[in-house]
Amino acid sequence: MAKRALITGVSGQDGAYLASFLLDKGYEVYGLQTRRGSDTLWRLRYLSVLNRIQLVDGDLTDLSSLCRALDTAQPDEVYNLAAQSFVATSWAQPLLTAQVTGVGALNVLEAVRLSGCGARCYQASSSEMFGKVRETPQTESTPFHPRSPYGVAKAFAHWSTVNYRESFGLHATSGILFNHESPLRGLEFVTRKITDAVARISRGLQQELRLGNLDAQRDWGFAGDYVEAMWLMLQQEQPDDYVIATGHNTSVREFCRVAFAAVKLDYEAYVKVDPQYYRPAEVDTLQGDAGKAQRMLGWRPRVSLQQMVEMMVEADLKRVAAE
Ligand code: NDP
Ligand code: GDP
Repeated sequence: MAKRALITGVSGQDGAYLASFLLDKGYEVYGLQTRRGSDTLWRLRYLSVLNRIQLVDGDLTDLSSLCRALDTAQPDEVYNLAAQSFVATSWAQPLLTAQVTGVGALNVLEAVRLSGCGARCYQASSSEMFGKVRETPQTESTPFHPRSPYGVAKAFAHWSTVNYRESFGLHATSGILFNHESPLRGLEFVTRKITDAVARISRGLQQELRLGNLDAQRDWGFAGDYVEAMWLMLQQEQPDDYVIATGHNTSVREFCRVAFAAVKLDYEAYVKVDPQYYRPAEVDTLQGDAGKAQRMLGWRPRVSLQQMVEMMVEADLKRVAAE
């Protein structure tokens, strides 16, 4: 019989890639849909998976809707990818971020526990929990020092996951993923903001690109590679925590250089620093050590930063041309 998976946040970047990955593995895929905005399902259409999955209404802040979704999906595996996921917004909406990204994850764990369905659970934890980093590179045992309401909420969700594993024996795993990007990344995140601007500037539709801290460094990987790691984690007999990262870090400035170079432009002629994009507290640098995932899961990233930037610029050039 086909395995069944329930994905929360199915309309997001990772949800779309994971749905596609699981369908290829022969899964029956259910996705939690919030029915909030206008066209939130564009990523599922982009990957041609919309007609191959079942959408179930629900919201992370509504425990009863999660119980009903579990009842409908009867899943073997639950992937909790839903969140208010944008760090900058978490200062403007700290309580909403705590409710959705923090307590929402606890609601998922509680719904699985109450249902007694025995589904294996994946929690989308984040390198933002390391925040003001205590050591480099960061591993599963590096202490947390979150620097935003988002990071604090993710730390709550992470420890709730560990706690439900230790208290109730839930097969609950926390994947501590470093930044991962793709042509499906939201436009508010810096990588997609850059590649979209590169496409528009190269077509003469935009004159400049205004950014904040160009010296921030991130360990950027490709989302398509990272969803495979999520699945591998849930195939293990024992639940655990795993860091998923490339092991390399790159500055925002260098990302700009590579992205503009893809269309033979010099970023220095177009990028302007604008203080409005600075954050109240910054995470200066992140660099992960995915050695444990490599040893235990046999996982390693496939797509290089250069390949990913070219993929994103190419997709944005096509989009801009189609507009
Ligand atoms: P996105 O922002 O692209 O997707 C977020 C998803 O959450 C959307 O489907 C959104 O639905 C859904 N959502 C938001 N609020 C609610 C709610 N109240 N109830 C139910 N669903 C809700 O995120 P990504 O795909 O990039 O990331 C997936 C997960 O991984 C997130 O939890 C993120 O915080 C985490 N993460 C991401 C990293 C990255 O670099 N991408 C790094 C580390 C962790 P709708 O479209 O309807 O708003
Ligand atoms: P995050 O790591 O989850 O916060 O991912 P983002 O893509 O939002 O930000 C990555 C880094 O880029 C952070 O250190 C930001 O301060 C920095 N950055 C610089 N300029 C911008 C900008 O204009 N938008 C965003 N989103 N980030 C920016």
